Amino acid sequence: MQCFQGKSVYKGIVMGPVAVLGKSDYQVTRKKIENTDKEILRMEQAVFCSKQQLKELYHKAVGDVGKASAAIFEVHQMMLEDAGFLETISQIIRKEQVNAEYAVFMAGNKYAQIFAAMNDELMKAREADIKDVARRIVLNLSGEEIKLGLTEPSVIVADDLSPSETMQLDKKHILAFVTVHGSVNSHTAVLARMMNIPAVIGVPIKIEELERGITAVVDGFNGQVIFDPDSFVCENTKRKIQEEEANKALLQKLKGKENITLDGRKIEISANIGSVEDIASALENDAGGIGLFRSEFLYLGRTDFPTEEEQFKAYKQAAEQMQGQKVIIRTLDIGVDKQVDYFHLGKEENPALGYRGIRICLKQPEVFKVQLRALLRAAFYGNISVMYPMITSVEEVEQIKEVLAEVKGELDEEGISYRMPEQGIMIETPAAVMISDELAQMVDFFSIGTNDLAQYTLAIDRQNEKLDDFYNPYHKAILRMIKMIVDNAHKYGKHVGICGELGADPVLTKQFVRMGVDELSVAPSMVLPLRKIVCEMNCEDFESVSKKA
Ligand code: PEP
Ligand code: MG
Repeated sequence: MQCFQGKSVYKGIVMGPVAVLGKSDYQVTRKKIENTDKEILRMEQAVFCSKQQLKELYHKAVGDVGKASAAIFEVHQMMLEDAGFLETISQIIRKEQVNAEYAVFMAGNKYAQIFAAMNDELMKAREADIKDVARRIVLNLSGEEIKLGLTEPSVIVADDLSPSETMQLDKKHILAFVTVHGSVNSHTAVLARMMNIPAVIGVPIKIEELERGITAVVDGFNGQVIFDPDSFVCENTKRKIQEEEANKALLQKLKGKENITLDGRKIEISANIGSVEDIASALENDAGGIGLFRSEFLYLGRTDFPTEEEQFKAYKQAAEQMQGQKVIIRTLDIGVDKQVDYFHLGKEENPALGYRGIRICLKQPEVFKVQLRALLRAAFYGNISVMYPMITSVEEVEQIKEVLAEVKGELDEEGISYRMPEQGIMIETPAAVMISDELAQMVDFFSIGTNDLAQYTLAIDRQNEKLDDFYNPYHKAILRMIKMIVDNAHKYGKHVGICGELGADPVLTKQFVRMGVDELSVAPSMVLPLRKIVCEMNCEDFESVSKKA
């Protein structure tokens, strides 16, 4: 028996035979070529053929995992249309007088290295995509078939998995994904989540030494992978699988139901998303809306600001896909861990206490206004609300309103259609908590950002792993603050939600409902588990959680 620890990408527990997907099907040799024009033509034909395959793959993926997740194959098609990439291949063929296979392989590696060297995790993950695209062209050049056949439900073990490899596998034969490499932000990870397949990445195994067909246990709950388990582990796993199946069946029955307690108290449970693509998962999990769309992800991993049109399109798409359900879009919250080069934020001694969130927007109104214009215009097409991060004062809200009035005036003047969305703020600083009675009179709703609120209240840098032992999310100070915010919001008839991670903590759900929190906005996969707790609870039975404090 061999036990490994990795990073879980999608929860779930399975046991089954190992199928290893090697990369040996992809061999490239360098050959000298006389007629380079002919070679470039061969390359262009292979690119054309690759595009056709990706189109077909996109349609298959739309059927299997939905439009949003299938979008990665459109990205691959776009990579095949990238003039720079194609020109690099042609140049290698011409300058080095080499075969197209070799030139594509080299150009793919060059671009992959560029992506790998980027600071942003999402862009790093593009490394696998460009390699995948290059591999497709090479296989088309050599006339080899891209196929990864599986005959029985198996645990797929690979060094890394590209999105197209993932999609080409027959879903009914995949029990789990286990990879040595890969990032939690990669599209393969996203696809695994969307396909509801347990996945553990970063597992330090030696693939060459792994025996095919041996049994593996993949526990996506704790990120453990066990090869050749003993009888005790097998029995234990079977029991866990049964429990999990029963649990899942119960949760499915909750789809379409209200989040209502036994004694009739209702609460909204919505989803947190980082991009339009995540909406598929929110809908799949029956989220009542989007409680937090972290719009900064539109700004990350690029070299320049997203334009008003790009943003408008993304927000409008989000609103349309949610079909009238509320979509709360948070304005740009960069700084600290979310660094964007073209903002030139510079180095700071205490970035979490520094130039971030709304402070940047108020100091750079030209950037802020572009986003507000896009938001107001998109609100015309759906149920969009806007909220602002990192608020600490009444003055900041007043300034926001001034900028908003300017934007509104400009849109009126230009005769552009828009709708003024509901306006909310995040309560995620102790200062905002303490003046929440005043702030409640200025906005339409509050959303409590417990991640930052805990950081600023407990003086614990949320990026610092060394402080994990000191971090107590159940600290009385936090829970009392949440109660205070809820009471102040309700005193003025305002809606209040929690969109920080604490909102998804099942240990606290009952307490939050009893406090009167109106909405919990959580990761899509947590919507139904929380609904279950709400539907089985009674507001009357009192029990409180606050450890150690
Ligand atoms: C929070 O601080 O709780 C929050 C939801 O915002 P973020 O995690 O994006 O800072
Ligand atoms: Mg925050």
